[in-house]
Amino acid sequence: MRDEQKINPKHAEIRQVLRIVGPLVAVVGLLLIAIGFGSFFMSLGKFEPPRFFWCAFLGMPLLFLGIAMSQFGFLGAVARYQAGELAPVGKDTINYLAEGTKDGVQTIAAAVGAGLAQNATGPDKMVPCPECGHAGDVQAKFCDACGASLAKVCPSCGHVNDRDANFCANCGNGLK
Ligand SMILES: [Zn+2]
Ligand SMILES: [Zn+2]
Repeated sequence: MRDEQKINPKHAEIRQVLRIVGPLVAVVGLLLIAIGFGSFFMSLGKFEPPRFFWCAFLGMPLLFLGIAMSQFGFLGAVARYQAGELAPVGKDTINYLAEGTKDGVQTIAAAVGAGLAQNATGPDKMVPCPECGHAGDVQAKFCDACGASLAKVCPSCGHVNDRDANFCANCGNGLK
């Protein structure tokens, strides 16, 4: 059976009483507050002092006391419930999240890898400079190492083409 009953049977008894008395006190406190405020708002229309307003002042500490007693009474039960029911679920949730995160990281890593691979063969590919051999962006107009002009200016129309272009993108003139 429950360990707490073996260790301290009185404690368990008090807890049992608190479980009944606590909610009762809270309900009585709530009723007193309702009566007190009800009386206060009724008296507003009648122009007479609220006769039962003191009930609200009595009810508020009673409500808090009742809630506190209930919390004490149910604290053990809540703790046991959390330990027995929520802890395994929490562990599973963490494991699940860890699994999800691992998959997510792998997906992102794969995407980054694919992105890098695509970049190497994509529009930003590097081409060596014909003057100094420095690898530069294929769309760069000048070499960033020696300053040589890299763009192919069409002798026919003056259009500036990429340096690996064989024909002018504007007029189709051969650029070799
Ligand atoms: Zn160069
Ligand atoms: Zn041209």
